[in-house]
Amino acid sequence: MIIKQREMPKHIKTLQCIARRMPDFHPKKPLVAEELYKQIAGYQGEKSSDYYISYLEPAPLVLYNIRLRNGDFHFQIDTILIFNKAIFILEVKNLAGIIEIRSSYDQVLKTTNDQTSAQKSFHTQVKLQKEHLERWVRRNFNMKMPIIPLIIMSNPRSILKAESPELLGNVHPASSIPFAIYHELDKLPSKKHSSKHIMALAELMAASQEELEVDWFERFDFNLKTLLTGMSCPSCEQFAIVQSSMKWSCKNCSLSGFQIVESAIEEAFLLMGEGIRSKELRRFLGGLSAQKMNRIARKAKLYKTGLTKGTKYHCKILGSVEIIEAE
Ligand SMILES: [Zn+2]
Repeated sequence: MIIKQREMPKHIKTLQCIARRMPDFHPKKPLVAEELYKQIAGYQGEKSSDYYISYLEPAPLVLYNIRLRNGDFHFQIDTILIFNKAIFILEVKNLAGIIEIRSSYDQVLKTTNDQTSAQKSFHTQVKLQKEHLERWVRRNFNMKMPIIPLIIMSNPRSILKAESPELLGNVHPASSIPFAIYHELDKLPSKKHSSKHIMALAELMAASQEELEVDWFERFDFNLKTLLTGMSCPSCEQFAIVQSSMKWSCKNCSLSGFQIVESAIEEAFLLMGEGIRSKELRRFLGGLSAQKMNRIARKAKLYKTGLTKGTKYHCKILGSVEIIEAE
């Protein structure tokens, strides 16, 4: 049973939006494209391994891409599977080429196109994830349960090598996920927690999820103002939107409707965060008049705070801030 679905993380959606809005000559374009490629490959690898989880019988409680907090520190796990007698954590690696796991320096080497680069140790990574999750469960749920980490190689074309066979003990191809899990479950004593108890744990984990926020502008050292403004087509991604009155359509692919505006507003919140000044949102949407912005805001069910030059738009209902209906 899936308790938390896998959705494309907000920081990848933001990076996609940045890449789409970068002019061809932008000096940071190659860096952004490279990072986006890595992020998407990781996400696709996780998604492709999810297929094998649906085979598990009995079906565990599943939480995809969960990020929890221990004090000031956050930790992220690609997949958590909760059975009555154990919790599994899956760290999914979607790497191409020759992957060599070394014990001597606790390092992973990746070779593609005759170029070798060092990666963080998979084993250290899952060991830390296990420790963080154990602490989180102890602090927040007061429950003792074995936590078993597995490293999943989701790229069937990668070639895996290890200095010793022991290093591959908990490393498996995605297609072997069910067998690896049954094998581990068989080794455990029969002590079980009730279904109600593990459901309460899974629901608490899902409710405690905290989304990762990445400031890509700071990471790559460039300014939002260097990106293209205006509405792009959510279907063909071209900046080919024409409007007459309150109707929008794409002259490249003929898509039409208010979804074009909603998509551009979603992009604005991804890039600028909650609470966008009216002037900035109007500029981003392609230089709208204050009157048109008001009509769009009402139709898109945006929330408005402040008056005249201090007006800000929000996509979420704010707790303590006075909300003014868009007129
Ligand atoms: Zn289009």
